[in-house]
Amino acid sequence: MSADPAQVIRADIRAMVAYPVQHATGMIKLDAMENPYRLPQWLREEIASVIQCAEINRYPDPDAPQLKNSLREIMKVPDCCELILGNGSDEIIAMLINAVAGPDTVIMAIAPTFVMFKVSAVIARAKYVGVSVEEDFSLSADKVIAAMREHRPAILFIAYPNNPTGNLFDEQVIRRIIEHAPGLVVIDEAYHVFAKRSFMARLPEFPNMVVMRTLSKLGLAGLRLGYAAARPEWIREIDKVRGPYNVGVLTQRVTERILAHHQVLEDQAREIVVERDRLENALHSMRGITAFPSSANFILLRVPDAYKVHMGLKDRGVLVRSLHGAHPLLEHCVRFTVGTREENDLLLNAFGEILATLG
Ligand SMILES: *Cc1c(COP(=O)(O)O)cnc(C)c1O
Repeated sequence: MSADPAQVIRADIRAMVAYPVQHATGMIKLDAMENPYRLPQWLREEIASVIQCAEINRYPDPDAPQLKNSLREIMKVPDCCELILGNGSDEIIAMLINAVAGPDTVIMAIAPTFVMFKVSAVIARAKYVGVSVEEDFSLSADKVIAAMREHRPAILFIAYPNNPTGNLFDEQVIRRIIEHAPGLVVIDEAYHVFAKRSFMARLPEFPNMVVMRTLSKLGLAGLRLGYAAARPEWIREIDKVRGPYNVGVLTQRVTERILAHHQVLEDQAREIVVERDRLENALHSMRGITAFPSSANFILLRVPDAYKVHMGLKDRGVLVRSLHGAHPLLEHCVRFTVGTREENDLLLNAFGEILATLG
């Protein structure tokens, strides 16, 4: 008799829902915070020659010294700290949690936030505790400190700016939280290039802080490269949980080449910020919509009916994310990525049409 998943796969895994990725063929994809711009032709040609020379018959160098050096320099990683690389920051989240998880370990995050903190905690069989933001999406230091006193989290994740709310939490509030944390505090700066605010330079001040970033939102989502900076004594331990060849040869070589021209990506990010501000202004003048201020490359909106707006946009060929039901503070909220100027105009038109039908 052959085995049945119900007898073999863990019950909590069977109860999970796989990370939702919407079908996007032929759609304007504003649901995943990707950079809408391609790289210039001359850089694509450089990448082609890099790939031609890559030694894909060999395992990648697990330490990726060249890539780490350029990241250190460009991202201004303080000398006191080491880097760890991941197949996206998703993998770094999993590594951090796997390095601490035991039957009584608590993983804490600010809620609502990026879902992978919870998903990785559940997979590692750690307990997950979300501490809610205030109604205006700000963070109460007292509330988080009280929750930490009660639950003693091994890791607290704070996304800065937060996803899906788009805001930056107050720096002094975060400082107080880090000073009171019983374990590690991971500042997830996935959107740092759009926010221009960072805790990277403050790593020397806080020995229990990790600053995590990704190149995904910057324009390299398809390459899958995330990195985290922390004191060497932390990185040394987390490195033991890492699969030895987790970042492939092609990702290493191609990323190095693109980072040599990182200005290209930063220019694109600047255009995205200009478009974000234009969109925010346009949305403020639409009745029935609340656009929350964003420091990232996406905007969270409260609409009269998230389901109808989501479906209405889909019918018009635009994919966004509905967050209704994800958290009490996200009632009738949808989130969309800032696209190209043309895409954004199309989105604004579609909003106008849909809102008209909703009365
Ligand atoms: C998108 C996102 C990530 C994951 O990025 P990858 O490097 O592509 O895995 C991590 N944290 C936050 C807050 C994000 O929004």
